[in-house]
Amino acid sequence: MEELKQRILKDGIVLNNSVIKVDKFLNHQLDITLLDNIGSEFYHHFMDQEITKILTIEASGIAVATLTALYFNVPVVFARKSESITHPEDKYSADVYSFTHEKQFNIFVSREYLKPGDKILVIDDFLANGQALLGMARIVHEAGATLVGAGIVIEKSFQDGGKLVRDAGINVFSLARIKNMSDSGITFL
Ligand code: 5GP
Repeated sequence: MEELKQRILKDGIVLNNSVIKVDKFLNHQLDITLLDNIGSEFYHHFMDQEITKILTIEASGIAVATLTALYFNVPVVFARKSESITHPEDKYSADVYSFTHEKQFNIFVSREYLKPGDKILVIDDFLANGQALLGMARIVHEAGATLVGAGIVIEKSFQDGGKLVRDAGINVFSLARIKNMSDSGITFL
């Protein structure tokens, strides 16, 4: 998505060779027009799949998932993070190692909001090592629902996640795939 790539080049701040800060439009301040265009891209890619629900993870997936859901006219469910390892009966849960927080979270979704028969589109802001996406895929599987695919805003292709999740059979559609990045610039696939 050209508009997104240009925006990453303009406002993305490369913190080190593996983390990029996009607080100006995606992770702190939100550019709603851009997010709306992103939602439209995801919709046109997955529109024939009879999506019944969008699943994302708090906090930074929620905004983009919400604007995407307006196109599909379906609810958004966001997986919540807790540091507790309890697994009450009324929740689906998965352990996820967070790339940015460098610690393990237990993510969970109430059983009330995911049902067998649901066709789920996962939306997230980043794909790095793939742990968030694989955790959400486990939750969808546990619910007996179908994971139709995953819409990712920024995939860092030089990290392991893309290969891992595609090898796991997940249909991933990324709008910007960063091949490499450093102080001297960002290149896309
Ligand atoms: P993964 O589970 O694929 O390793 O990481 C995905 C999650 O980590 C995303 O939901 C995102 O919030 C966060 N993340 C991963 N890499 C980056 C990055 O370079 N910049 C920012 N801002 N967040 C990232």
